[in-house]
Formats: sequence, structure tokens, C-alpha cells
Amino acid sequence: MNNNKRSRKPNQSTTLRVREIESREWWLWAYAVTVTLALAAGVVALSFPGYHLGGDGLFWSDLKERVRGLAALVLLFDIYTVYQHFQSQRLRKQLAEGNELFELITENAADMIAVVDNQGHRLYNSPAYQKILGYSPEDLQGQSSSDQIHPADRERVSQAAEKARLTGRGQRLEYRMRHKDGSWRVLESTASAIRNGNGYTEKLVIVNRDISERKRAEEMLAHNALHDRLTDLPNRSLFLDRLQRAIARARRHSDYRFAALFIDIDEFKVVNDSLGHSAGDELLIQIGNRMAGCFRETDTVARPGGIPPKSVAVDESLARLGGDEFTVLLEDISDPGDAIRVAHRIQARCANPFVINDQEVVISASIGIALSARSYSQAEDLIRDAELAMYRAKRAGKARCEVFDPGMHASAVRRLKLETDLRRALELKELIVYYQPIVSLESGKIVGFEALSRWQRPEGLVLPGEFIPVADETGLIVPINRTVMLAACRQLAVWQSEFPSEPPLTMSVNIAPKQFAQSDLAKEIHGIIEQTGVAPRTVHLEIMETIAMGDAERSADVLAELKAIGVRLSIDDFGTGYSSLSRLQRLPVDSLKVDRSFIFTMGDNSDSQEIVKLIITMAHTLNLRVVAEGTETEEQISILKRLNCEMAQGYFFSRPAPADAIMDLLRSRCVSRAAAAHV
Ligand code: C2E
Ligand code: MG
Ligand code: MG
Repeated sequence: MNNNKRSRKPNQSTTLRVREIESREWWLWAYAVTVTLALAAGVVALSFPGYHLGGDGLFWSDLKERVRGLAALVLLFDIYTVYQHFQSQRLRKQLAEGNELFELITENAADMIAVVDNQGHRLYNSPAYQKILGYSPEDLQGQSSSDQIHPADRERVSQAAEKARLTGRGQRLEYRMRHKDGSWRVLESTASAIRNGNGYTEKLVIVNRDISERKRAEEMLAHNALHDRLTDLPNRSLFLDRLQRAIARARRHSDYRFAALFIDIDEFKVVNDSLGHSAGDELLIQIGNRMAGCFRETDTVARPGGIPPKSVAVDESLARLGGDEFTVLLEDISDPGDAIRVAHRIQARCANPFVINDQEVVISASIGIALSARSYSQAEDLIRDAELAMYRAKRAGKARCEVFDPGMHASAVRRLKLETDLRRALELKELIVYYQPIVSLESGKIVGFEALSRWQRPEGLVLPGEFIPVADETGLIVPINRTVMLAACRQLAVWQSEFPSEPPLTMSVNIAPKQFAQSDLAKEIHGIIEQTGVAPRTVHLEIMETIAMGDAERSADVLAELKAIGVRLSIDDFGTGYSSLSRLQRLPVDSLKVDRSFIFTMGDNSDSQEIVKLIITMAHTLNLRVVAEGTETEEQISILKRLNCEMAQGYFFSRPAPADAIMDLLRSRCVSRAAAAHV
């Protein structure tokens, strides 16, 4: 078989060649038939009794016998030769048919079939080579079979060929071959040996199938199983796998250190709620891209099969766990500072505004870091600790980064228990409301109360500082505050009717950060006010300064909505944030509550007094009334009076107390006032 001959029609070539041989053999046939006929005629003639040549009759008869015997022998040999010739012609025909079949199969097969010699030279290539790989017979002629094979696969292919030569049949093999256009195709091949009469392998027949499409489909499926659909970043399973390998490596090499970063986008829900989910998705994609840019690129080309999937993540150390949570595996770091630096880099990158639907969106990220340690054996544990550190960062004020320490774990367990207990407390109605009077400094009268929640546990009373932050984080604050609000408004209605005054008694209720983000907050409060029948203007909502001043646009909207239902608004713990005067001026608030830390140090710290004086003056210029929190001493009261502060709240007047005790207090005050009026 030769490449040149392949240009003929495949099923004609062998037939033509057989005819050619047969046409050259006609004279042989003519010769054989002539000789046979001549010999047969001779033998017959010599056998005829009347045939006489004259002379010595005995001599001639003896010679005739000998010639006849010899002729018969030659005739026999001739017949045997003709028989053998027939046999060889039959074999030749069979061989030709076999060849024809081989050609028919190879020339029409969809697979690429090649015959190579022991040196790897191509002896035959089926036409499928041109169809699949673009090479014409001329391109391949004289080339080594390994020329187009991917350099990384050559060794494997030659080993498989060697094995096929030795055993007669090689194993199934996958390798890459270059298309004429330069791209790589994945082939699946098997080789079979053609042996000579001595049993030695002379050639190999190699059948190659193009499985590039199948491979691509397989890789896409594998890719989808391990990557996030939205951002195309590695998903949780792939990240856990990487992390587990890093843990194993750290256990083998004591000098190998790594870190896991847990990143959560602050207030991502606000984006989803305000701009819609598709904008949220777009933002996540952009965040993923930006974060990926923070790391060095890794080699993504060397993949099994060599076919890069349609799109690959720029860096596979970054993953998206789901929602707005991302994780990073930082390998081979030299100290925790490396991880912190990367975290800050990510935060700095995310701080630049994103543009979503022609709108600028500003976000921040809280990051928790867990460093490799011998105690880790499970990747999940490391992620959990990084997540705990992230929660700590969020609690510390968002857009921060925290490194995990084992103490966090213990406190997380405590918090988890607290959360479970708190849920139960709600069902068991263990949450009760205490009230603390707010007193007018001018008249000395109780003008209102602040509702403060308490958790009545069998072990004792728990203060809100311990459970409100947990309730806020878990969202439990929403049902808690609904309960507090309802109880406080009901109580206010009772006190207002029993102790009528002008203006009527007020009730202040605290609004937690999560509630501030609650879309139906105004509607809910309005419902409670209507249900209890109190006048909206006698209900004061206290919003912490840091929350009210946080997101300028959003807080202005929420405050306006609340204001629209007629309630009064108060900025709580004033002085602890960094309020700008112009911002404060634009917010629809009615009063400020000066943080108790200033009141506490007012007596012996003239700076504090100066600040309180400034706050009061500023509040008055903005037409806001001022309540001083945490007033404990007479001295503080007299300073506040001098500074024209309108109201005060603190242990000096009364500690927060249950409704019954406050009722007694109100009664006794009424009685004492009545007695005073009597005198
Ligand atoms: P806040 O709104 O600033 O409440 C005033 C806090 O100061 C109360 O602490 C009160 O007991 C305390 N206090 C009042 N007078 C004095 C005083 O003379 N000296 C000192 N040292 N402290 C005084 P409490 O009840 O522990 O509440 C702490 C914080 O928890 C509150 O601060 C408020 O922000 C929050 N909170 C309490 N109850 C609720 C609630 O039902 N919902 C929400 N969202 N937050 C609440
Ligand atoms: Mg308050
Ligand atoms: Mg306060």
C-alpha cells in the first residue's frame, strides 16, 4: 500500500491490479495448454499399435515405450503444475478480496486508520485524516507518526506503541494531535500489530477516533459541577477540595503555611432589594472579577486533555460559596501579615464604585481570616473559623478584617446557644419590658419613658447588651421589637389615661439596625399605633446615631417614611458617631439623646462639659430638643440645667423598672404633687 495509489478509486485499485497480473499471465496459460495438448497427443500416438517407424522393430518398440513413459510423467507433472497454478490464483484472488475489503473499510471509515512501520514512518493513512485533521496524503507522506502528536503526550504514545509491538495489541490511549490549522484535537486510539511469518511485528495498524467533542462535553460537565454558574468561579466543593489538599500539605511540611479568607459583602441585601436581583447578580459578577484581579494568575492551560473549557476563572484560589460570600485560599504565605495585606487589597479594590445599570453602587466587604494550624484536619473547620472571624469583623463595624483566634470559637458556641435560647424565650414570653422615666429638667415632671427590654431567665435577668446584638444579627430583633413596641404602646395608653397631662406622656422605643433595613417597618409601627390607640406624636423612635447617619440616602428615606406616620424621631447615643451638621439638618428628627459617656465624665472633665454644651447649642440652632442620658448625680443635673438641656434620664431619677413599679412611682409623684398643692 502506498499513499500515491490512494488517489485511485479505492474499490478499483485491487481489481485492476489483479486484472493486470492476469493479463500478463495469458502466454503462460497458452504455453501450459499447448504443452499439455502436445504431450497428450504424443502419448496417444505412441500408444497406437499401427504406428511403425521401420528398421529394427524391437529397438523402436523399446524406444517408443520409454518415450511414452517419459511423456506420461511430464504430462502428470504438467497437470500438477497447472493444478498448483489454479490454487495460487485462487489464493491470490482471496488475498485481493481481503485487500479490497481492507481498503473499502479504511477508505470509508470515519475513524483515522494508519499503518506505520517499526521506525514510526507512516506507510498508509486513511482519507479520514484529511477530513478530521486537515492533512492531505502528501502532507503526511514521509513524516514520522509522532510529528503531529502533542509534545507532552509523545512519551506515552511511544510506550503504548512499543507495548503493542510486543504483545500484538496495545491498550486504549487518549492523546492530543495537532490539526493542520494549529488547534489540538483529542484522539482515542488502539494499535494492533501485523506480524511476519517468523512472528516478528513488522507494522502497526493504528485506529484513531476524534473524541474532542465528547471530551469537551465531559469537561464542561465536570467544570459545571465544580464551578459557580453565575461567576464561573470555583464553587464550595472545589474550594473545600483545594483547602483539604493544603491542610494535607501543611501536615507533611511544617514550613508550609496558608490562610483561608472568608469575604462577605456588607449590606448586599440592600442592593438586591433596591435594584433588583438581576442587578445583584451583575454586581456579584463584577465583584468576582475585581477580586480575581487581586491575585497572581495561575496556569489554567495545562488541563487534562488540553482543552481549556469555554471560560475559566482567572484564578482558582478564589471561590464563591454562594450568595454574597467569597473565599480565598492563600498558599505559601510567610506570616499572617501577608493574609491581612491581601484582605486589605481586596477591600480597597471593592471600595471603588461599581456601575450597575448606569448606576453607581458603593459596597464594602468584611473579611475573616483563618491561618493554617496543626489542629486542623478538616477543610470545613477552617472555613467555619474564617467565617466566625468575618462575623467578628462585621460586628466591629463592617468593612473590616479580623484574624481568627481560638477564643472566637468558644464565644461563637456561646452565641449559638444564646440564639437558640432566645428563640425559645420568645415563645415562652420570657422577654419583658422595663421602663425608665424621662424627666423635664425645667418642671421636674416625668414627661415620658424609654422602653428597655429584659430577658427574664430562670438564672436571672439578662440585660439587652448581651442579647440585642445577637437578636439583631439573626433577625430575631424583628419579632422581639414587635413585642416590645406592642407592650410599650399598650402601657402608654394605660398611663396616659390614668395620668393625663399636657403634653401627654410619651414612650420612646429603640430601633435596631436590622429593623432599620426592614422594608415594612413604618407599616408595622403604624399598625401597632392604630391597634393600641395612642397618639402617634407621643411615640418616639430612638435610632442610634451610627445607623441614622450610615447610608445617607437610605436613612433619609426610612426616616421620612417613619415621620409620615406621625411619630417623633430621636437620635440615640449622640456623640458616639461622626455626624455632620449639614446631614443632621436634613434629617427629619425631633430630638437628640446625648450619650451617657459624656454625662458621666462631665463633672471632672471640662472637655466633656464643653462637648455637651456644644451639642446642646447646636441642637437648639437646629430646633432639636435634647435629652441627657445616664444622669446619676445632682451635680450633673445642675450642669445640664445651666446648659439649658430640656430633659434627662438616669439612675438619679429612677433605674429602669417593671411597669408596676413605674405605676407606683407615677402614683407617688401625683400624690406628692397633690400634697404640695394642698399645703
Ligand atoms: P439606650 O437606648 O441608650 O438605653 C439607655 C441605657 O442606659 C439603658 O441600658 C439604661 O439602663 C442605661 N442607663 C439609664 N440610666 C443610666 C444611668 O444613670 N447610668 C448608667 N450607667 N446607665 C444608665 P440597657 O437597658 O442595658 O440598654 C442598653 C441598650 O440596649 C439601649 O441603650 C438600647 O440601645 C438597647 N436596647 C434596650 N432595649 C432594647 C429593645 O427593646 N430594642 C432595641 N432595639 N434595643 C434595645
Ligand atoms: Mg435608647
Ligand atoms: Mg442611648
